[in-house]
Amino acid sequence: MEDTTKVFSEITAIENKYGLIMFRMGLTHLVDVGFRNLTDEDVEAAIKKIIADAETDKANGVIQVMTPEFQCDLVRCAAELAKFSVWDIFAYIQENVVIGTAKQGAGTCPECGHDDLEYGSGSVEDNSYIYKWACEECGTFGRECYDLVFSEQIVDGDKN
Ligand SMILES: [Zn+2]
Repeated sequence: MEDTTKVFSEITAIENKYGLIMFRMGLTHLVDVGFRNLTDEDVEAAIKKIIADAETDKANGVIQVMTPEFQCDLVRCAAELAKFSVWDIFAYIQENVVIGTAKQGAGTCPECGHDDLEYGSGSVEDNSYIYKWACEECGTFGRECYDLVFSEQIVDGDKN
């Protein structure tokens, strides 16, 4: 992961170079370009492409990290957000979206840092043991994953 301090100082340099007004308009423009590419037709086209690509990947035996359903929901979610003004979105982020401050660790909510998660059932999936959890503090829910690694062979007998 890139050093946040370095990234922030690079962004500050851009702000200083262009001045506050141009910088804020630049931020808006950056997001606005994305907004304009999220019209209803574009969303339908993007979803058709995701599904077509998934068919091709499946035929070629390629496994995507994000499922096609996940990617389609992502596009739909972004398209719904695009109906707001860019500044409303920025204001919302400033008020409500925790960015990179909560610590990651077992038993801790990655969104708010609350360290008394409610655990549900556990199960084995894809070489991981996974517990479902919910955070009573902020309402986030998710899964805590533990790698399953080989430890030893135990012989319990033979056919004779
Ligand atoms: Zn939480």
